[in-house]
Amino acid sequence: NAKSQGGDRFCFYNESMSDQADRRLELENQLRHAITRNEFVLNYQPVINLRNNQLVGVEVLLRWQNSELGNPGPDEFIHIAEHSGQIIAIGTWVLEQACQQVMTWSRAGFPALNVAVNISSKQFIDGDILASVDRALKQSGLPAAQLELEITEGLLLNDTPAIRDIFKQLKARGVHLSLDDFGTGYASLSYLKRYPFDTLKIDRSFVNDIDNCQDSITLTNAIIAMAHSFDMRVIAEGVENLNQRRILRERHCDMVQGYLYSPALPADQFLEWASRYGEMQYSRHV
Ligand code: C2E
Ligand code: MG
Ligand code: MG
Ligand code: MG
Repeated sequence: NAKSQGGDRFCFYNESMSDQADRRLELENQLRHAITRNEFVLNYQPVINLRNNQLVGVEVLLRWQNSELGNPGPDEFIHIAEHSGQIIAIGTWVLEQACQQVMTWSRAGFPALNVAVNISSKQFIDGDILASVDRALKQSGLPAAQLELEITEGLLLNDTPAIRDIFKQLKARGVHLSLDDFGTGYASLSYLKRYPFDTLKIDRSFVNDIDNCQDSITLTNAIIAMAHSFDMRVIAEGVENLNQRRILRERHCDMVQGYLYSPALPADQFLEWASRYGEMQYSRHV
C-alpha cells in the first residue's frame, strides 16, 4: 500500500495506472458488442474547395454512443481497437456505411460528394482492405473515384512490397489515397515520391497557429509547394477562423475543413447544413 511503497504520491501513481488499465479493458470488452448493439454512428464533416467555395466532399468520423463509458472519442478507442484487432471489423463497417450513406444522398438528387474514410494501418497489414473496399463499392454502387482513403504516416514506416501492392491495386480501381496528419509523424519526405498519394492533409496543429506564428506560415507554404510539385492536392484541416482561411487561400491551398464551416455532424444534420450552405452559395452568385 501507500506507506510501504514510500508515500502517497507513489500510491496515487499506482492507482491511476491501474485505473487506466481498467478503463482500457472495459473499453475493449464493450467494443466487442458495439457493432451488434448499434452503438456506432458516423458523422460527416464538409470539405470545401477554397477556389470556388463549393462543398466537394465529406470526411467520415466515427462516434461511439456508449453513455455508460461517457461516449468515448475516437482518439481514445481507436488505438484500443487497433491493439485488440477489433479495428478490422469496425473499419469494414465504417467503409460500408459511409459508401452507402453518400450514395443514398446521391440517389436522392444531392450533388455527388467525395467520401474520405480514415483507415488504420492495421487494416492494411492484417485486414483484407482490398476485399473490404470492393465489397463497400459493390454494395453501395459508389463510383471508386469518389472514395478516398486517409492513411497516416505510420503505415509507411513499415514499407513492404505487400503494402505497395495494395496501394497499386487501389489506384488501379480509381480509389484516391490521402496522407493524413502530415507533418506530425516520422515519415521521410521520400515516401511522397514512392507512394501514389493524391492528397496531402496538413495537420491541424500547423493550421492552428498559422494566423499568429510566422514559422507555421513558412512550414505551410513549404508543404503546399512541395505537394503541388508532386501533383498532389492539399487539404488543410482544423480551419477555425477567416484569417486562417485567408492565409491558406493566398498560399494556394486547395481545400479546407474545420469548425469555420462545420464540425462533423450526424447524417441528417449534415444534409441540413449542406442545403443551407448550398443556398447561401447560390444567393451569393445571383
Ligand atoms: P483525423 O482523421 O485527423 O480527423 C480530424 C479530427 O479533427 C477529427 O477529430 C475532427 O472532428 C477534428 N476537427 C475537425 N475540424 C476541426 C477544427 O476546426 N478544430 C478542432 N479542434 N478539431 C477539428 P475526431 O473526430 O475526434 O477524430 C480523431 C481521430 O480519430 C481522427 O483524426 C482519426 O485519426 C481517428 N478516427 C476517426 N474516425 C475514424 C475511423 O472511422 N477509423 C479510423 N481508423 N480512425 C478514425
Ligand atoms: Mg482523417
Ligand atoms: Mg488528420
Ligand atoms: Mg488526426
